[in-house]
Amino acid sequence: MSDAPGLRAIDGLQLDDEHRAVLKPGAEVPFADGVVHSLPRFFYEVPSWQAAHEIEVAAHFKLSELLMVDCREAPLQLRQFPHHVPCAIVLLARYLELFRIKAGAPVFVAANGGYRSPSHRLNHRESMHQWATAANIYRVGDTYLDDEAAIQKYARIANSIGDEVFVRPYAQGDDHLHMDIGVVTLTPRELNEVKP
Ligand SMILES: [Zn+2]
Repeated sequence: MSDAPGLRAIDGLQLDDEHRAVLKPGAEVPFADGVVHSLPRFFYEVPSWQAAHEIEVAAHFKLSELLMVDCREAPLQLRQFPHHVPCAIVLLARYLELFRIKAGAPVFVAANGGYRSPSHRLNHRESMHQWATAANIYRVGDTYLDDEAAIQKYARIANSIGDEVFVRPYAQGDDHLHMDIGVVTLTPRELNEVKP
């Protein structure tokens, strides 16, 4: 898992100040229920958009599909390469692949519906998108997930993958299915976990 093709893994704590300010590697996030979780520390370095479009993180998912960046992103993350994505992105991709198999149709992730850095303006404090373990799915095959019946149908399929999969219950006005695998981080085996 640590050797996604063409991707170099790095320790976010060794990035420069500017990148650490955007990515907040290892930063503690207090959740409303009183527990504290640490943001991802280890990232893959994405050298260019071309690379993101070429790299398959699972059989049917390109890295670029899970790593879209828009004007709500922090300027540094928007304009400069390399970009950084938590290593757990490869695990998210495996779950999306499983979901695709169970759904029996192609799965489409919304723009900004994969990894979002902690500096992205769409994130709330507890957003699993900051861990790269969440995906917003807006379409499965020819079905758009913009009504209760469609969202509930595919929510059941996502839930059937395993207890670790969380699916946000339908709320009025939803236009996607949010699915995540919780607070999961991945340490590439070649990287040192002792803090610098
Ligand atoms: Zn979401």
